Amino acid sequence: MTGIMQGKRGLIMGVANNHSIAWGISKALAAEGAELAFTFQGEALGKRVKPLAAEVGSDFLLPCDVEDLASVDSVFDEIRARWGKLDFIVHAIGFSDKNELKGLYANTTRDNFTRTMVISCFSFTEIAKRAADLMVEGGSMLTLTYNGSTRVIPNYNVMGVAKAALEASVRYLAADYGPRGIRVNAISAGPIRTLAGAGISDARAILSWNQRNAPLRKSVTIDNVGSSSLYLLSDLSAGVTGEIHFVDAGYNITSMPTLETLSS
Ligand code: NAD
Repeated sequence: MTGIMQGKRGLIMGVANNHSIAWGISKALAAEGAELAFTFQGEALGKRVKPLAAEVGSDFLLPCDVEDLASVDSVFDEIRARWGKLDFIVHAIGFSDKNELKGLYANTTRDNFTRTMVISCFSFTEIAKRAADLMVEGGSMLTLTYNGSTRVIPNYNVMGVAKAALEASVRYLAADYGPRGIRVNAISAGPIRTLAGAGISDARAILSWNQRNAPLRKSVTIDNVGSSSLYLLSDLSAGVTGEIHFVDAGYNITSMPTLETLSS
């Protein structure tokens, strides 16, 4: 531990259980001295998040469903009341109807398109606006995306479209808040087994394909994402904003399967 997050306070949105990417990020931040608040979506997940928060020394838990803007507002009211300011936020929230995370993208319904965009993309903009008001000494915002935003990944479908819009939001928000010393970045993680990840049809096959064909020949872990997030959330990346940073064992740079895969 180097203590690079000592004295910094941040909000983590998106821990569902100990497999969540947001949990990998939380562990890394807490180990470097950050003080954390957590949101949870509904009481059932709250029961899982509470002991995890306690593990990293936090008793600051707030319910939040991003479909309900009043609950988003109340999160930031509570943070203002208890901390008065905020140094960073992590947005690790995504959702789409799993019945549409298979088959043709063309079959996406209007209802699910809208819901997916609101939860997985626009919520980041709504949260960023509220968080920025509390980042009185500057700050860092981080969201999570996936390579399906710019490449076609089987079954990722409408989530890919939402991630493309999310990545564009990162750039626009970075431009909006840069003059206030607030940085906005995303980590594009490789496939990881999580609750949300399991909603995508054939997720196991996609994970195994990445593992066999990524330059590092492995899947990334929530701890790999956690350690990379330290750079983007700390002053180590003081000159970086509007960036989509891949933590995917290098898979995004490839243009064809490895020769081992082709010959197997
Ligand atoms: P996860 O299931 O652990 O986390 C998803 C979180 O989104 C959960 O905590 C859930 O409560 C929250 N959420 C969903 N709808 C919500 C709503 N209406 N209001 C508030 N919260 C809501 O899965 P994860 O894989 O850790 O996902 C975190 C982020 O990482 C997502 O944006 C996901 O798209 C992204 N991501 C995941 C992978 C992967 O392979 N697992 C790869 C790249 C990016």
